[in-house]
Amino acid sequence: MGGGPVGCVLALLLARQTSHPERIAILQSDASSQYGHVPEHDPRVLALNHGSRVLLESLQAWPAQASIIQNIHVSQKGRLGRTIIRHRDFNVPQLGSVVHYPRLHERLMQALQASGVQVHTGRAAQVSTQDAQGVSVVQDDQLFRTALVVHADGHPNTPVQREYAQTALLTRARACLPRKGWAFERFTPEGPLAVLPHPHAADAQSIVWCCASERARVLTSLEPNAFSAALSDMFGTRLGTLTVEGPIVAIPLRLNVRANIAEGRCVAIGNAAQTLHPVAGQGLNLGLRDTAMLAIALRDWLTQPERDVSPILAEFQRHRQPDRQLTALLTDSMARTFTTGLAPVEHLAGLALLGMDALPFARAPLARHLLQGLRR
Ligand SMILES: Cc1cc2nc3c(=O)[nH]c(=O)nc-3n(C[C@H](O)[C@H](O)[C@H](O)COP(=O)(O)OP(=O)(O)OC[C@H]3O[C@@H](n4cnc5c(N)ncnc54)[C@H](O)[C@@H]3O)c2cc1C
Repeated sequence: MGGGPVGCVLALLLARQTSHPERIAILQSDASSQYGHVPEHDPRVLALNHGSRVLLESLQAWPAQASIIQNIHVSQKGRLGRTIIRHRDFNVPQLGSVVHYPRLHERLMQALQASGVQVHTGRAAQVSTQDAQGVSVVQDDQLFRTALVVHADGHPNTPVQREYAQTALLTRARACLPRKGWAFERFTPEGPLAVLPHPHAADAQSIVWCCASERARVLTSLEPNAFSAALSDMFGTRLGTLTVEGPIVAIPLRLNVRANIAEGRCVAIGNAAQTLHPVAGQGLNLGLRDTAMLAIALRDWLTQPERDVSPILAEFQRHRQPDRQLTALLTDSMARTFTTGLAPVEHLAGLALLGMDALPFARAPLARHLLQGLRR
């Protein structure tokens, strides 16, 4: 259920592991997602780590347009401290790549067409009943009876754990002094501001500006010139002047982690399992790790799908817990540490950034987790 990147990647991985790919179906909703967009118009630009890229390339789903991140500059507005994470410190050609959600989705849909998997688009699908023999799912007037349901519908069905009172403003800007391969994460008292190389042009930057929700309302009502000036003021002059081009999309931010991702024959992965703050660009990277691990867990079962899948899903839940919890904890603390409004805390955080810069071994674990996630 759900044909976003996570649902599509899982279907492609499972299709490779069975001689009956036609028994796998993606039920995709043609209504707008929680972000108010169908995939073809989704405004998100995604920073993906090396592992995610390798996975997508192996499925022939890597978009032709992608920019690369070789160095990440992390700083704090108005306080001491900055650190630089460089690809050469990790002996890798790049730290990550940036792709546009609609281009990634387009490539995944093309790969799906060749895979033999069924794709049904209609109203939001719903689980109607679950019993010992299987699960019934309804979409429009169609009833599907299945041995396993994977929720990849992008929203955990649980109460929100944290309202950040922050809104992410997404837009594209042109930099008058672009720096190839550089990404910037700037912590401000209202939330982090990310400036990433945009995949569409060498001087284009993708902006993810997380700020207090009231301020976001004011900013979105500004004329483009005034918005550009406010953005340049917040970011500084590292890329020269930033001129916003393109629409500004506002996305409210919250943390929502599902405690139980496995319930009988149903399991949740990707944003349906956890919705994180976008700081450090971890959501889809984590979702793709969920996906790869679920495909591995289901490998043997796919050859004998009459066996009860519940124990496999329960084990999958246990196995995924550390990576999901650590990534949620890391992004939650990064999103909040610099926004306490308490000068000593923010100075300490600034010193931590300085310390990390001086001591490569201190920044290595953070960067490694952001690069690779928890591998077991
Ligand atoms: C501002 C912002 C920036 C981000 N930046 C990054 C980044 O740099 N790097 C990164 O790794 N992650 C990033 N993320 C997170 C990333 O976007 C998500 O983790 C990723 O899109 C999750 O994919 P998904 O397929 O699980 O869910 P989604 O992308 O939300 O897709 C779910 C799909 O399911 C459909 N659907 C919903 N309900 C139903 C239903 N009942 N039946 C059928 N279909 C349904 C929806 O319409 C949607 O198409 C960012 C998120 C935000 C908000």
